[in-house]
Amino acid sequence: MEKFYEKEYHTQSDKAKQSKLDLPYIYEKRKVSQQDISYDLRLSRPTVITNLNVLESEGMIRKSGQIDTEFVGRKAAAYSIVSDFRVSIGVEILRKEIKMIAIDLYGDKIDRLVFEIAYENQDSYYRAICDKILEFKELLHVADAQLLGIGFSMQGLVSPDRKTIVYGEILGCTGITIEAFTKYLPYACSFIHDADSAAVSELWVSPELKDAFYLSISKHLGVAIISKGEILAGKHGHSSTIEHIQMEPEGEICYCGKRGCMETLCSLDSLLKERETPEELFQELRRGESSAEERWDVFLLNLAKALNMLHLIFDTDFILGGYLASYLCEKDLAFLHEKIREMTPFAEASDFLLISKMPQHNITIGAALPYIQTFLDTLPEV
Ligand SMILES: [Zn+2]
Repeated sequence: MEKFYEKEYHTQSDKAKQSKLDLPYIYEKRKVSQQDISYDLRLSRPTVITNLNVLESEGMIRKSGQIDTEFVGRKAAAYSIVSDFRVSIGVEILRKEIKMIAIDLYGDKIDRLVFEIAYENQDSYYRAICDKILEFKELLHVADAQLLGIGFSMQGLVSPDRKTIVYGEILGCTGITIEAFTKYLPYACSFIHDADSAAVSELWVSPELKDAFYLSISKHLGVAIISKGEILAGKHGHSSTIEHIQMEPEGEICYCGKRGCMETLCSLDSLLKERETPEELFQELRRGESSAEERWDVFLLNLAKALNMLHLIFDTDFILGGYLASYLCEKDLAFLHEKIREMTPFAEASDFLLISKMPQHNITIGAALPYIQTFLDTLPEV
């Protein structure tokens, strides 16, 4: 993951670093016996026992029940990484509410908190959010040394150093810096663009993913380009902002001030009527109501146009994510493929459109994950 995070987390102890045990191996296996370690890592039993004792005394691993082992033909004591040895927190800042989540070293949710508060670019607002985060941390009994960092997912574009919002027209937060939060939080903190955090979650559940366009189709449209397993940040922080590519010069006004951006045709805001929920629209569609069907077909056709343009730029997989993903079905993908085939000079087999695996709470988890990933990347190996 990006170098930026490496500087800011609390490293594990020097003793653990000197250990000959391959911690990533224990992490991957989740539960191992002394015999497994000794056999798989070609270490003598006394070396294994000494190192396990050191790591156990430091709280990094613990005995956790028993495990079958083929080497001795009976059950043996199992060792596991202590999943909350380190934790991180992800916070999603929205116009009317805040969502936060604490995750462990396996990226699993420890707990989650959602509360309503209207966004205001005021010190009192940031202070209120930070107080809530501190309360949340206390409630979970997370010690300072355990907390790797806090990621703030923003509906806005973030500078490459993750410390400034370079463009935040949706919330009206352009120019705010991470000091607004670090003033009250003595931990590593950073911003992340919300589409990037959703893509980080996608990469976590699909580590085999190397190159892709990730489209987060929610209230607003957001995109992240994944290249060689990493999310492209761009020189100025506005890489992959395809939502502002103009598709209809005379179209609806976008929040950026221009007309007919992809945002005005391919976001949930553009699809739904005022106050309508996606659930309401899809119920109408399932009932076969023609006005809903017409709206949906227009939306899919525009999405196909957008996908075709992007596919001409980057011939790769396209992952359709965001709130819309859970409503998409095979029939919709087939329709998109058909329309793209009619438009493109390079008709491909229908294998590049995928629906997101969409872990729950993907944006908050994705804001927290970079800290966990960096910690795991530096676990000592043999
Ligand atoms: Zn725009």
